[in-house]
Amino acid sequence: MIDKQYKDLMKHCQEHMEEVEKTLPEPKENLHEMLKERGISRRDFVKWTSAITAALMLPPIFRPMVAKAAENFSRLPIVWLHFAECTGCSEAFLRSSYPNVDDILLETISLEYHETLMAASGYQAEQNLEKAIYDFAGKFICVIEGALPRGLDGKYLTLGPKGKTGIEVAKDVTSKAAAVICIGSCSAFGNIQAANPNPTDSVSISKALGISTVNIAGCPPNSVNFTGTLLHYLMFGGLPALDSLGRPVWAYGKRIHDYCERRPHYDASEFVEEWGDAGALKGWCLYKVGCKGPYTYANCGKVRFNDGISWPIMAGHGCIGCTEPAFWDTMAPLEKPLPDKSYGGGEKTVDKIGIALTGVAAAGIAAHAVASAIRHRKDDRINTEEEKHD
Ligand code: SF4
Ligand code: SF4
Repeated sequence: MIDKQYKDLMKHCQEHMEEVEKTLPEPKENLHEMLKERGISRRDFVKWTSAITAALMLPPIFRPMVAKAAENFSRLPIVWLHFAECTGCSEAFLRSSYPNVDDILLETISLEYHETLMAASGYQAEQNLEKAIYDFAGKFICVIEGALPRGLDGKYLTLGPKGKTGIEVAKDVTSKAAAVICIGSCSAFGNIQAANPNPTDSVSISKALGISTVNIAGCPPNSVNFTGTLLHYLMFGGLPALDSLGRPVWAYGKRIHDYCERRPHYDASEFVEEWGDAGALKGWCLYKVGCKGPYTYANCGKVRFNDGISWPIMAGHGCIGCTEPAFWDTMAPLEKPLPDKSYGGGEKTVDKIGIALTGVAAAGIAAHAVASAIRHRKDDRINTEEEKHD
């Protein structure tokens, strides 16, 4: 049954990729030449396609399609908007010390507009944006970094020589995009701008505009989750299945606590009691020094950061829950446990987790349900979930 579903998915993927091959703009970069220049061998690229195929919850037969989608990456027009944020997400993606294939892919991206990176400013920048959304209407992906302030009729955030509010710009651009991807927890959920007392009445893009968005949550998010989502779009012509908070299920479907290498210590009640104690030296569980892994859904422990070298819990600090809405308010204090916070209807034992893991193949199929009707559709579930945290 599962085999047949994957075969059908493969057929859809091949047909879609053949079709878009005819319509995508010409490639702006040659990925393989770029990889060679950076010392990344063909073997490394093949290893990367295996890793990203597995991360996307696809079986190995999809590796050639992932490779083809990566080669087409520079053909997908992107308009990248910045609102109330720190630009840390762009920085995290673009300033890697040891660029891996994901980082190089992000360099090939066809950025038709990106305020931080482009040379143009003032009227010229505004014209560039207008031209990009006209030339690629209905075809470009709008990537948004930053929350939208609603206070003072949106005037806490104005942009460009005409002094348009962020809300006006966002409405205009998103209405012409093929899909809207929120990069980072600011655009996804409001993040620090929306934390109490939220003087500017900042909210997520979804809430400010009443549209559904794909939320690549995290502060900053892992580049794998962004590149994987775009690769999925190139392969299947739609966005991946999302959870009730708009996050791709393949990346945010599991709890940090259930993949954590310190989990056996949690189950054995072996805890770090204070920073630098004997438990810390032995790599014991960080729950008592505030780890929020039990309340947080993300794949950080699986894909890690900096070319897979490490992740916060491995480095010795607890998870702060940055992929969850309103984490500054709901997860604080960050270095103390929250005894009154419940998570997922009670704790799972290691045995139960093993049983749950055998369901991954079926979850993988579900994660690739193509969300074809996603564009501009108001998704009440997202707003409802966010409102719970307001
Ligand atoms: S999500 Fe975090 S890193 Fe990204 S822009 Fe917002 S504050 Fe900066
Ligand atoms: S509480 Fe944190 S450190 Fe401990 S097992 Fe869970 S995720 Fe890992």
